Amino acid sequence: MKNFAKEFASDLVNLFFPLQCLGCNTPLTPHEKDICVHCQLQLPFTYFHLDGNNPMVQKLNTLLKIEAATALCYFEKNSILERMLYQLKYSGQQQLGAYFGSLMGELLKHIKDFQNVQAVIPVP
Ligand SMILES: [Zn+2]
Repeated sequence: MKNFAKEFASDLVNLFFPLQCLGCNTPLTPHEKDICVHCQLQLPFTYFHLDGNNPMVQKLNTLLKIEAATALCYFEKNSILERMLYQLKYSGQQQLGAYFGSLMGELLKHIKDFQNVQAVIPVP
């Protein structure tokens, strides 16, 4: 009963003040959180985490000895990702940082090279 009341109150609030996608500002559906499916599908993922000798590892190993490195997305000018990074850095949308951090955690938690990570260095 308590969950029903909580969901009802949340739906009522969303009816008058719909949550908007942080990428494109369209109203989110009840099953979307922070970013709509359309924007998620436009994110240019690298999938570097699946390759132990990916371009990030190759580039960083010329500077210092590292065990593993990855990048979540390719940066593209005038892309949905650029808009999201701008929102994160300059518009106080910290939930985007949580979104990308959680996404990265989900991708890496089963990858052997990232099981004993000692440092994470975010580079926007
Ligand atoms: Zn969107």
